[in-house]
Amino acid sequence: MAIGIQTAAYLFASILFILSLGGLSSQESAKRGVFYGITGMAIAILATIMGQHVHGHVYIISAITIASVIGILLARKVEMTSMPQLVAILHSFVGLAAVLVGFGSYLDPHTHTLQGAAHNIHLTEVYIGIFIGSVTFTGSIIAWGKLEGKIRSKALLYTGRHAVNLILLLITIVLGVLFAQQEGTDGLLYLIIMTAIACFIGVMLVMAIGGGDMPVVVSMLNSYSGWAASAAGFMLGNDLLIVTGALVGSSGAILSIHMCHAMNRSFISVILGGFGNAPAVKGEAKTIEGEVTSLNHEEVAALLKEAKSVVIVPGYGMAVAKAQYPIYEMVQTLRKAGKNVRFAIHPVAGRLPGHMNVLLAEANVPYDIVLEMDEINEDMPDTDVVMVIGANDVVNPSALDDPASSIYGMPVIQVWKAEKVIIMKRSMSAGYSGEDNPLFYKPNSEMLYGDAKDSVEKILGFLKA
Ligand code: NDP
Repeated sequence: MAIGIQTAAYLFASILFILSLGGLSSQESAKRGVFYGITGMAIAILATIMGQHVHGHVYIISAITIASVIGILLARKVEMTSMPQLVAILHSFVGLAAVLVGFGSYLDPHTHTLQGAAHNIHLTEVYIGIFIGSVTFTGSIIAWGKLEGKIRSKALLYTGRHAVNLILLLITIVLGVLFAQQEGTDGLLYLIIMTAIACFIGVMLVMAIGGGDMPVVVSMLNSYSGWAASAAGFMLGNDLLIVTGALVGSSGAILSIHMCHAMNRSFISVILGGFGNAPAVKGEAKTIEGEVTSLNHEEVAALLKEAKSVVIVPGYGMAVAKAQYPIYEMVQTLRKAGKNVRFAIHPVAGRLPGHMNVLLAEANVPYDIVLEMDEINEDMPDTDVVMVIGANDVVNPSALDDPASSIYGMPVIQVWKAEKVIIMKRSMSAGYSGEDNPLFYKPNSEMLYGDAKDSVEKILGFLKA
């Protein structure tokens, strides 16, 4: 393919990627956004493998075919609840790819003919690319482990960890200077040592981040993987990879900042691996007072029949139970009976950004009854019944009134201000952050134990009876 045609194809693909990001900004246009993204990527791959200096097409096409089959099988099989883990592990592949491209580019005899500034720029690209790639690679594997429950989600904090990270960073800079002074491939050892240090930094950064902050980590690693791809683009001299990586890197960073605002966390503290992650006040969490009471399905149905205004707060448990379909059926039944029924969505409910919105859209819940936390909080005192379905951390009052809690400062849906709160979950166990929830002990709270889907179906039965 002529260079001019390839450049035009790259430009077109870049425009499609930008349109794709624009499309993904709202639920109505998300499908179109995904279509633009797929088309852009197909054009990008074709234009790259048909490039002038590309050889070994049989290997490339075989690798793409095998990888595509694995990708399709995995994507079809993965549950909505396991999506964040899949995203995290895919980010680790981008990091690993950047590391491999970096080593490949350093060992490539063609690059040794570069002289002067061009040579120094190339070495810098290789060094920074491998550094970002390694941090992304191991950090994403740890994030996957935490989300999958293979590694405990609590933050691993030890005294002096910031000093250790700083020293490691300084060693990395010194190694980089030594690396840049070597001829040919003599700097390989420095590169290998730096890679090992960067891999360790990636592990420690994510290990230091507690369960409650994991949403930001997922989007932050998304951003890192973008920068790693961009660095690989510089090493390969591929403009499209540079642009695409920068798009992913900056959009991931913007999303991370938005999520930090939603959780009242400092962005810098989260990306520095839990800097200032400790509770505002050290010491024992507040003792929870009150008694836990519970209702049965028939009693909950009776409460709903009486209520005029109902708010449903879904959380991770709704996704696990796949309860969104019977929930919407219940909502339709209540709305037909003239009740004002709305959903309240916390920005970090579930296990990935927008998790609840996607599930509710899947069940065809109209957008106009799905409200954000800030929109619904002021209506809480006028609400008769709140149904908390498989949510826990996002309705935990300790976030507002217990400075010793690890989620202190995170805005929450203030369901306890409603007249009655029904909490539907299987047991008294804690949410993802591991914090106990005083909501369960409030005088206006009632537990309804059991699987969310099963419970909603039973309530629906009583409502229709
Ligand atoms: P939580 O994890 O706090 O609570 C979910 C609750 O659902 C659990 O307490 C569990 O209780 C219950 N549950 C699980 N399965 C079922 C079931 N089948 N039927 C009924 N209930 C069930 O979820 P939230 O959505 O409230 O909060 C999200 C948390 O996850 C926050 O801490 C957030 O920071 C974190 N997070 C969010 C991400 C995001 O991007 N949104 C990414 C990663 C983490 P029980 O076992 O008793 O049933």
